[in-house]
Amino acid sequence: ATPAATMVGTSIGAQTGVLFKGGDILERAKDVDTVVFDKTGTLTEGEMELTDVVPLGGTRTTTDGGTETAADGGAQALEDRSEPESEAESDEETVLRAAASAESGSEHPLAQAIVDGAEERGIDLADPEDFENVPGHGVRATVDGEEVLVGNRKLMRDNDIDPSAAEDELERLEGEGKTAMLVARGDTLLGLVADADTVKESAKEAVAALHERDLAVHMITGDNERTAEAVAEEVGIDPENVRAEVLPEDKSDALDDIQQDGTKAMMVGDGVNDAPALATAHVGTAIGSGTDVAIEAADVTLMRDDPLNVVKAIRISDGTLQKIK
Ligand code: ADP
Ligand code: MG
Repeated sequence: ATPAATMVGTSIGAQTGVLFKGGDILERAKDVDTVVFDKTGTLTEGEMELTDVVPLGGTRTTTDGGTETAADGGAQALEDRSEPESEAESDEETVLRAAASAESGSEHPLAQAIVDGAEERGIDLADPEDFENVPGHGVRATVDGEEVLVGNRKLMRDNDIDPSAAEDELERLEGEGKTAMLVARGDTLLGLVADADTVKESAKEAVAALHERDLAVHMITGDNERTAEAVAEEVGIDPENVRAEVLPEDKSDALDDIQQDGTKAMMVGDGVNDAPALATAHVGTAIGSGTDVAIEAADVTLMRDDPLNVVKAIRISDGTLQKIK
């Protein structure tokens, strides 16, 4: 493009909240043939809410109300009780109290939702001791003198706790697009908690518009495969283009992998986790209320949280968005 066209592009961008860090970025963005989205906070709102608490072998409740018998072993456990209702309540409270007390040491959005959910249900939390964050896997803390673990299957296995008794419930919750977490105390698997996030309203429209422009669309996430695929399906991303359970330090390698055949990717992310991948991508784009670290690593900053602005960035760079409506 001529210097004049570049100036027009950066100026349209500035006026529409799509900030290119320089004219050369605008040039580079023209060659992008693939867009890689981070899931949480980028395609989704990133505002988690606690939706399920499932004591193992007991009963489960959901926020849509009602108590149901858990599929696996629940009926048996209930029959053995003299006062099933009250025991079920306390079981659930045990799971949630342990999880939320441990998570109160964490700032992860998953943790925040569990703590808020417990407080909304009037549960008094214990102060966690020896809190430890296990990045990409969960947390560990001492609660009332006992070790509590909250996290994924791998966290449990790494600590010699067999997660298989929870597998049916895990798969059910993950199939609903929720992030399900296992809760263990001592050497016992107590149950599960699940958080759900909402897909951004315009995410599906943005993916469709990118496909229409013949761009491939991928998704990268630290979340598990089943949850990731449920979200991908909702927004129209091919499950084959989904990389799940990617550890924070491996996101950048995942980008290298996508680009190894000459693919030129625009990576779109919001988190500290995403900064190395933003730097590795042909064009790194930080979205909306992204963290400062992400914005610093990015070539393009989208002032608003709206995934449609990714389409706008592409259109500004290829010259098809020339006027402001
Ligand atoms: P994302 O890339 O979606 O932001 P993370 O890399 O932070 O995800 O986490 C990946 C997975 O590790 C989560 O889906 C969850 O299973 C587990 N995990 C991470 N942090 C926590 C936590 N504080 N409590 C429970 N589980 C966690
Ligand atoms: Mg994120």
